[in-house]
Amino acid sequence: KYTLFWFRRDLRLHDNAGFYRALRNHSNVLPIFIFDRNILDKLDDKKDRRVEFIHQVITDLNTQLKAFGSGLLVKYGTPETVFPELLSTYDIEAVYTNHDFESYAIERDNMVHEYLQSEGVEFRTFKDHVIFEKNEVLSGSKTPYTVFTPYSRKWKETLNDFYVKSYPTEKYFSHLSKINLPEPPSHESMGFAPVGMSFPVKEVKDLLVKNYAEKRDFPAILGTSRLSVHLRFGTVSIRELVKKAQNLSETWLNELIWRDFYFNIVYHFPHICQGEAFRREYDQIEWRNNEQEFEAWCKGQTGYPIVDAGMRELNATGFMHNRVRMIVASFLTKHLLIDWRWGEAYFAKKLLDFDFAANNGGWQWASGSGCDAAPYFRVFNPTLQTQKFDKQLEYTKRWVPELNSLSYPQPIVNHEMARKRVLEVYQKALKK
Ligand code: FAD
Repeated sequence: KYTLFWFRRDLRLHDNAGFYRALRNHSNVLPIFIFDRNILDKLDDKKDRRVEFIHQVITDLNTQLKAFGSGLLVKYGTPETVFPELLSTYDIEAVYTNHDFESYAIERDNMVHEYLQSEGVEFRTFKDHVIFEKNEVLSGSKTPYTVFTPYSRKWKETLNDFYVKSYPTEKYFSHLSKINLPEPPSHESMGFAPVGMSFPVKEVKDLLVKNYAEKRDFPAILGTSRLSVHLRFGTVSIRELVKKAQNLSETWLNELIWRDFYFNIVYHFPHICQGEAFRREYDQIEWRNNEQEFEAWCKGQTGYPIVDAGMRELNATGFMHNRVRMIVASFLTKHLLIDWRWGEAYFAKKLLDFDFAANNGGWQWASGSGCDAAPYFRVFNPTLQTQKFDKQLEYTKRWVPELNSLSYPQPIVNHEMARKRVLEVYQKALKK
């Protein structure tokens, strides 16, 4: 009899909670990956960096598994159709996988669970993607935190060695199913550079983490880990990173806690998955939603060099530095008064590290409607931000080389006018 291990946001063999349990409890474990048509068919552009990333990673996983006489079974389809097919091909006693927190994933897993149960197949899921989930970090009155600082304090108090211990899957690799599988379907390269070139590398240097607090705000330098895509797809283990952070940098640890925090918000406040503002009163704001201005923002043609540099970096690479994400998001919502959901959706299309929880959290933070909100009257000044964080214009000029030429557009909006305008509009909506 086979036990399936279903890889999703945890595309690695080492230190993988669900994979470890499957291997420990069963002696014939067959790893599978499903290219989910429910997700793929929704992509506007079939040429998607993330799909390319997944292809590269699963090819790599298959090679690693083959070294143990096993392999990765790759299927295309929807889980509704793939599981019945698998059950009719293999004699399956159990399916193991790790938790996923987005609303589509939860529904999908409930459906798969029901189906497997009706067929007498065990379905077991485990926490792997975060350090704490669901109700593991609650306030003294047993309610979810909505503000980061007290959440992070409680998170740190709750943490002990148990939560970061790794799962030594390698002890049980002999329990992998010995099976001769076809190679994963090859795919035509979409023309992006291979992993390690356009995609950030998996290892983070100790020195970088040590210097993180001083360097993280300067987009011109490699001062942050660039691990977000790996955290997104689980090609690195969050437990290993937290151990590193504990030894090297409290500031970096806090960033990893932000990640847990936003998963916690999505879990406890599912209204944000329906497109609503975390603070519902912010849905009264009268956005201007000017389509031409939105287009100028998307293309990096606003006439604000740091904003344009960020958007061009995103369009060209699928990545944008966190400081610049904050600046462009503030600019869209506050300077242009465009609904944060438009920006959220654009980032969702373009970001290699796109993750609903962090992206929604970042956008609502920028617009002021989120949890732990900066006061709504704080409007980033792109010029001052540039003076502080890209003084020599090294980052800006990398992406906007025509900066001082006639071909560079005039600012599409005047900063002082925009600042006054947004304050009035917000005040009116919030009646403060
Ligand atoms: P580092 O600075 O090295 O941080 C390490 C890790 O901590 C990151 O890889 C990430 O997993 C996590 N992290 C850091 N900052 C945050 C944060 N504010 N919220 C949640 N997790 C964080 N991050 C995403 O992973 N996916 C997104 O879709 C996303 N959208 C964003 C949208 C906006 C408007 C803003 C302001 C931020 C967004 N972020 C998102 C958070 C942050 O910008 C990225 O995680 C970070 O830039 C990734 O670079 P890094 O890996 O070098 O991070």
